Amino acid sequence: MNKNNISFSEAQKINYKNNIFTTHTPVPAGIDIFHRELISKCLSEYYSKELNLSLDEFMQLGNIPNFKDLNSFNMAHLAMNNSMYINGVSKLHGIVSKDLWSDRFQSLDKDAIPIGSITNGIHIKSHTAPNLQKLFKKYLDGFWEYDLSIKDNWELVKNIPDNELWQMHIVNKNNLINFSRESTLKQNNEKGIETSKNNFENLLDNNALTIGFARRFATYKRATLIFNDLDRLDKILNNKNKPVQIIFAGKAHPKDQAGKEFIQAIYKVSFDERFKNKIVFLENYNLEVAKYLVCGCDLWLNNPRRPLEASGTSGMKVVTNGGLNLSILDGWWDEAYQSELGWKIGDRQNTFNSAENDETDIEDLYKVLENEIVPIYFDKDENGLPNLWIERVKRSISELSYYFNTDRMVMEYFNKYYLKAYNNF
Ligand SMILES: *Cc1c(COP(=O)(O)O)cnc(C)c1O
Repeated sequence: MNKNNISFSEAQKINYKNNIFTTHTPVPAGIDIFHRELISKCLSEYYSKELNLSLDEFMQLGNIPNFKDLNSFNMAHLAMNNSMYINGVSKLHGIVSKDLWSDRFQSLDKDAIPIGSITNGIHIKSHTAPNLQKLFKKYLDGFWEYDLSIKDNWELVKNIPDNELWQMHIVNKNNLINFSRESTLKQNNEKGIETSKNNFENLLDNNALTIGFARRFATYKRATLIFNDLDRLDKILNNKNKPVQIIFAGKAHPKDQAGKEFIQAIYKVSFDERFKNKIVFLENYNLEVAKYLVCGCDLWLNNPRRPLEASGTSGMKVVTNGGLNLSILDGWWDEAYQSELGWKIGDRQNTFNSAENDETDIEDLYKVLENEIVPIYFDKDENGLPNLWIERVKRSISELSYYFNTDRMVMEYFNKYYLKAYNNF
């Protein structure tokens, strides 16, 4: 406005064509809404003097059409009102966002609503264990790392000898287990809980199928779903010949009481006689803890209420580290899942925040673990290699890594939106 000496509405029209709103969650708690009084208290100088708007006019910017609640200022509405391009962060999230924000486009059929999607990706070099990167260097095309989105390069993963791939995974898994023992010892010390040498060494089993669950403890992610039937879980975890263990980590939002209660519940189960050395909760979740987990787990569990996981990215990190995914068909997994490279829980039903499908999801989760995952993991040849498991790991790496990475993602943003927006301006 100042530079070109134009009105607010003129400036708004120009910027509209240059703006892109990437919406990140369909969960209401993830979207900031500010009350009129707070807006007036903090921004009155700005909207009245700089923008030349009344409080009502300014409040209208944070309201989608015909959603006239001039007492609240919704940041997602602000972004949509002022962006020509809007996208979700997975295909499913794009579709869900059309429903969620249809009020913004009242005259349009759902199909015509201009909300697209670009599926998230991970920065492979930041999230893949160095020993696996070395292996890729050795067996993939020499130029694989200069463009990670070339499918043909990743297909060469099939040339990696099973024993080399497995050996690297075991190194990372042992690192995770050592790290978890040390962390648990430290946590216990801080609380005055004694850990004998024996306790320390018996905590977690290097030969057990190791399941990881680490993320924010938002309630829709249902961190304690697997505890639904502790007797059944006991049978799964404590099978002498086919032991299974679970490592949890994560933090709740300070204001999310239900999320904190999940952590308390996990902590309590980890002291249950039946699960003492089989279930651990690692405190102080951060990038370092996450790194050990995504690099070292055999299986990554994700069980949100569909369709609230806009994308999810931790499962992608597990892929390039040679772990397998077991997940609800939500976010990225809804488009990544194939039966030969991982497992699904439930079907494509949306429940949003209702517990309607919790029972069937948990039944499915136990069944897949008991009948498919555990048997395949422990089906080892005379050299101790789980051939069918490794076959899946290779398929998972070669079919998924080329797509769920930031090279592909950034190019998609550039081609679909950024270049157009720049030219519009
Ligand atoms: C990748 C990552 C996340 C995001 O994981 P989701 O699967 O999207 O929940 C959160 N925290 C850390 C530390 C991560 O590395």
